[in-house]
Amino acid sequence: MTDTMLSESLTSARRRLDAALANAGRPADAARLLAVSKTKPAAMIRKAWGLGQREFGENYVQEALDKQAELADLEGIVWHFIGPLQANKTRAVAEHFDWVHSIDREKVARRLNDQRPEALGPLEVCLQVNVSGEASKSGIALDELESLAAAVLSLPRLRLRGLMAIPAPAESLDRQREPLARLREALEALRRRFPEAPLDTLSMGMSDDLEAAVLEGATLVRLGTAIFGARDTSRR
Ligand SMILES: *Cc1c(COP(=O)(O)O)cnc(C)c1O
Repeated sequence: MTDTMLSESLTSARRRLDAALANAGRPADAARLLAVSKTKPAAMIRKAWGLGQREFGENYVQEALDKQAELADLEGIVWHFIGPLQANKTRAVAEHFDWVHSIDREKVARRLNDQRPEALGPLEVCLQVNVSGEASKSGIALDELESLAAAVLSLPRLRLRGLMAIPAPAESLDRQREPLARLREALEALRRRFPEAPLDTLSMGMSDDLEAAVLEGATLVRLGTAIFGARDTSRR
C-alpha cells in the first residue's frame, strides 16, 4: 500500500466513524478509532502515526514486540493487545502494552496483574464476552461475566474499563446489532452492579460492522482492513 493510499483510507475511516456517530445522534468524540495493525509492517504504523493516528491494536505477542522495538521513538503511541492471550504470554503483554481487550479468564487477569511493572500505571483492560453463543469460541459467557468482573476489580494493577466482543458475521444491519446490543446491555448491568468502577469502554465494531456498533454505543472501534487493506492470510 502506498503512502497516498494509506492517507486516503485513514481519512475515509475517520469520516466513516464521524458519519456513523452523527447518524446515531452521538457526539463526535464519543468513539475513537483503534487501528488494527496485525500482520502489517512497522513502517506502515509509523506512517499512520505521522497522519495523527495514536492507538494501534495487535494480536500476536512476538510480532507486536518486534514492531514496538522498531517504533520506540514514536511519542504518544498507545498499544492495545486484542488477540487471544495464553497464560504463558502474559508477562510480555503486561510489560509492553497499555491496554488488553481479550481477558476472558481469571488466571490470565491475575498473571497480568502480578506481572505489571510498578514503573507503569495500571493496565487498562476489557473483558472479552461471547455474545454469539456457539458461533464463537472465545470470550466469557454472559452469565459468568459478573463474577469475572468482580475478580478483576479486586486486582490493583488492572483497571477494568469495559467489554469487548467479536460477534459472528451477519448480513444485515439489524442482525449485526443484536449481539452488539447484548454487549451494551451487559456493560450497563455491570455499571449498575459496580457503580465505582471506571467502566466507560465498549470495544466493538470492525470494518464490516462499524455502523451497527456505533448505533449500539461503541466507544472504541477496531478497524484493520478498512485502514491498512486486506491482510495476507498466507502468513498465518
Ligand atoms: C483483526 C481484528 C480486527 C480488525 O478486523 P477488520 O475486519 O480487518 O477491521 C478487530 N478486532 C480484532 C479482535 C481483530 O482480531
